[in-house]
Amino acid sequence: MKKKIVVFTGAGISAESGIRTFRDNDGLWNEYPVAEVATKFALEHNTEIVLKFYNQRRLAAAKAQPNFAHIALAELESTYEVIILTQNVDDLHERAGSSNVIHLHGQLNRAQSSIDSSIVYAWDKPIHIGQHCELNSQLRPNIVLFGEPVLHLEEARRHIKSADKVLAIGSSLTVLPAASLLKKAPYKAEKILVSLDVKGKIPYGYKFLRGKAANIVPAICKNWIL
Ligand code: NAD
Repeated sequence: MKKKIVVFTGAGISAESGIRTFRDNDGLWNEYPVAEVATKFALEHNTEIVLKFYNQRRLAAAKAQPNFAHIALAELESTYEVIILTQNVDDLHERAGSSNVIHLHGQLNRAQSSIDSSIVYAWDKPIHIGQHCELNSQLRPNIVLFGEPVLHLEEARRHIKSADKVLAIGSSLTVLPAASLLKKAPYKAEKILVSLDVKGKIPYGYKFLRGKAANIVPAICKNWIL
C-alpha cells in the first residue's frame, strides 16, 4: 500500500504564478477591505461590489499557470497517495495534474445559488446581477465567505489524521478553522511547513523552512520520491 502524504496549501503557493495573496505587504486586503468584499453581510448588502471583486479574481486565476511547486506535488502521485487540502480558490493544483484536491474555501470556477449552496455550476465567466439559478435566486461565487462554514472539514480531518507525511505550504496560518487542521497530524508523521512568513503559531512538530514555494517544494518532493 502506498504511504500517504497530506499537503495543505494557502495563497503563498500560487503567488509565484502571479495570483496575489491576501495578507502580504502587496496583498489584496490592503486594497480591498475584507468587510467590503469577503463577508456574508457584504454579499447581501453590496452584491455588485462582491461580484466584481470575485470576477476579477476569476480572471486572474484563469490567466495564471501552475508553477514548479504545483507541478512537483502532482509528481508525488507516482509514489504516494497524495491528498491536497487547499485554502485556495484557484484551480492550479488540478491544472498541474493533482487528482485528489479538496477545496476548503470553494472554487472560483464555480457559481452557486444564493439560497441553496448545493446548487453549483461550472462557471468560467463573470457573474452579473440578474443571473439566476434554477430556483430563481441570484447566482454568487462558490466561495466560502467570512461567516460561512468551511467545506469538507470532517473529510479533511480524517485525511490528515492518517497521514505519513504532512507538507504545509504558503499559508499565514491565520484563517481558522482551516489552519487548525495541521494540529491533527499524527505525532509520528514527518511534518514540514514552507512559507515566506507565518502570522499564526507554527504547530508543534513542524519543521519550518522559510522561503519561496517554487524554490523549496520541488527539492522536498524529489527527496521523498527517491
Ligand atoms: P494569506 O494571504 O493569509 O497568506 C499567504 C502566506 O503565503 C503568507 O504567510 C506569506 O508569507 C506566504 N507566501 C507569500 N508568497 C509566498 C511564496 N512565494 N512562497 C511561499 N510562501 C509565500 O493566505 P492563506 O493563509 O491561504 O489564507 C487566506 C485565504 O486567502 C484563504 O481563505 C484563501 O481562500 C484565500 N486566497 C486564495 C488565493 C488563491 O486561491 N490563490 C489567493 C488569495 C487569497
